Amino acid sequence: MRPRFLLDGMLGRLCRKMRMLGCDCELAGEGRSPYLLLDAESAGRIAVTAATRSVDRRGPPPVILRSASVPERIAELFAAIGEIPAIEPFTLCLECNAPLGTISPEEAAQRVPPRIVRDFKEFHECTECGRIYWKGSHHNAMERQVEAIMQRLRDEGLLRSSGPSSSPRGKGCC
Ligand SMILES: [Zn+2]
Repeated sequence: MRPRFLLDGMLGRLCRKMRMLGCDCELAGEGRSPYLLLDAESAGRIAVTAATRSVDRRGPPPVILRSASVPERIAELFAAIGEIPAIEPFTLCLECNAPLGTISPEEAAQRVPPRIVRDFKEFHECTECGRIYWKGSHHNAMERQVEAIMQRLRDEGLLRSSGPSSSPRGKGCC
């Protein structure tokens, strides 16, 4: 089963980046930080926090992140759980963690500005909140962020070089 995460409320930015990678990631709600471990346990999720104190101690221990940047934190988290989840960028809604489905430009035309439908042909819709995604300039920025995170995972030895041609080992699943 793929690892699922529950992040402490202070880790909102990390949560969105995890979703960007396609990792199932929920953010603890307002006032729920004291119950992070219990909430994670009952939801079958791995608790993640950057706080070394003030989390309750009644559930399984959380992953405590000590690094600062998002790529470092993601590498730290995957190293801590000893597993790299399948990285499937842009398959989850950044807002609500639900899977994205594909919709036609005709469907999208009802709900996005005309110039967007003119310039883009591929649209995805959140199955939960209905938010529509397309590969605009913001998407290009996110692709660079994904690459920065993947590079960090490779630097840390957590991920092998992508693609069979670029892999010096010539085999391997990652
Ligand atoms: Zn959504």
